[in-house]
Amino acid sequence: MSRDPRCLFCKIVHGEIPSARVLETDQAVAILDINPVSHGHVLIIPRSHHAELAELPDDLSGHVGSLLPRLTRAVVAATGADGSNTVINSGSVAGQTIFHCHWHVIPRFFDDPVRWPWPHHPYAGEEMGRMASKIARELGARADD
Ligand code: 5GP
Ligand code: ZN
Repeated sequence: MSRDPRCLFCKIVHGEIPSARVLETDQAVAILDINPVSHGHVLIIPRSHHAELAELPDDLSGHVGSLLPRLTRAVVAATGADGSNTVINSGSVAGQTIFHCHWHVIPRFFDDPVRWPWPHHPYAGEEMGRMASKIARELGARADD
């Protein structure tokens, strides 16, 4: 398990900074966000330090993914939410502020002030096919990652 001594979330998962824990496994900890979008906003934090999603080992990502349905059911039931968003911010451009990869589970209410969707823009002409080929090529080139 990797650890960064300067990382806030490493300190939280190792119990050196207090948190409101709602679920613990051998590989991950789920806590309440200290500054929630809405009450019941949960963070799922892998115990091992990996700065961003792209750096996470597949099995650890799979483990956290396996917790999401049960955790989401519990958050929605406990808060009476109408639904939820599950979000990972990767990179400062995407709003990441703590560089220890984590999932947000955010309860949503029909009358809350959060606005979704983000602006969308359709592809023009052949752009969509070209983009699909580029990403598929990258996946092929990185098959052994
Ligand atoms: P990010 O912006 O990196 O995707 O999300 C970081 C989240 O961590 C933010 O929503 C922020 O409110 C939360 N956070 C920051 N510091 C603490 C803390 O000390 N304890 C807890 N429980 N949450 C924190
Ligand atoms: Zn960390």
